Amino acid sequence: MPLALILVDALSAAYVSRALFSTICDLTAGGFAGPLANLYAYRGIEATLFTGRFPADHGIWGEFRPAPPKLERWPDRLARLAIETGDRLPFDRLRLDVRYAVARVRHSDRLLPTGNLIPADLMPRFIGSVEQPIWETGSLGEIRTLFDELRATHMSFAIVSHPIIHHDHQIEPYVRALLARGVLPNFWYIKFSALDALGHFLGPSVTKLAPALRTLNGQLAALITTLKSAYPNGGIDIVILSDHGMSWVKSRIDIRPFLKQVQGDFLYFLDSTTLRFWSTDPHLCATLKAQFASVSGLQILDLEARHSLQIPDDISTGDVLIALEEGKVIFPDFFRRESPPLGMHGYASVETEAGLPFLAVDSEIAACLPDRRPLTHADVWSAMRQRLGLGQPA
Ligand SMILES: [Zn+2]
Repeated sequence: MPLALILVDALSAAYVSRALFSTICDLTAGGFAGPLANLYAYRGIEATLFTGRFPADHGIWGEFRPAPPKLERWPDRLARLAIETGDRLPFDRLRLDVRYAVARVRHSDRLLPTGNLIPADLMPRFIGSVEQPIWETGSLGEIRTLFDELRATHMSFAIVSHPIIHHDHQIEPYVRALLARGVLPNFWYIKFSALDALGHFLGPSVTKLAPALRTLNGQLAALITTLKSAYPNGGIDIVILSDHGMSWVKSRIDIRPFLKQVQGDFLYFLDSTTLRFWSTDPHLCATLKAQFASVSGLQILDLEARHSLQIPDDISTGDVLIALEEGKVIFPDFFRRESPPLGMHGYASVETEAGLPFLAVDSEIAACLPDRRPLTHADVWSAMRQRLGLGQPA
């Protein structure tokens, strides 16, 4: 059976009600609609959704990992110089735009090589966790993705996502145009993205987000109608899900005073919800752990904790890995110098419904899901494979 996977970035389980999402409620009559388990995986969420494996296994976790030392070629040096200049601009948004523009010119076919989190002078010290979009051949090396499996069985798929799509309202017309050309793929991967930025900015407030949620409901309704009408007897399964939810930000932690007290040679990477440190000096690592152990709202993730969270325990997660409690953020961070966000995701553990991702499937897909709760992104992978007729995983 053909299948359309509609990923709505940052669609929180707390956003969905009959009043706002009639489309989802109609779709899931007799099916399943509810929260998914939180996955502490950043870039690795998509890898789990398309391999059924967890980050400890597929190896994709954060946006970046430290890079082995290498000589920088002049185009990269030039790109970095442009970014360094852009980083002096006074607004968060402008600095981000410069980085996107440089990345587009430099590697238009690849994922953003340096994203927005690394200061320009430290860029050569890091590489992206995934160099290619997940649907490219062999994007995860030895591990076969759903897309690799579809290719191997000569099934077709269509990707409807950035950079073909710049705004969510372009999605349905784009899909309609493809269908009008007689394209009828076995699998669709369609990504909506507007909600993530809004959730960060406004927090997971259903009241404030209501206009955007109503718009999204309308866009989903149009998209599903278009898809169903193109396949004989409406014969296409629909899966709607999100990668993560959106938690309320309650407080911020400025860790600079703690960092100042640690002497020695170490590399660190701070993003809003996670601190990572690398050092070859075990004494320094112990000092860092001791320094942060006393800070309320921070949790040091030792090897045991990393195993239970199913995340890697290699260089990608650092020699010292510290997770923030849900609702806390590091501020300021490199790209938010002006105002802290009201909503955030990327927590190791999530207690609130708002922080959980969401899944909605029709009754046929629901029949392929296990009875165990909470459901995971890997369960969705398994159910999609069954409905696509991909047989037993290799
Ligand atoms: Zn986000």
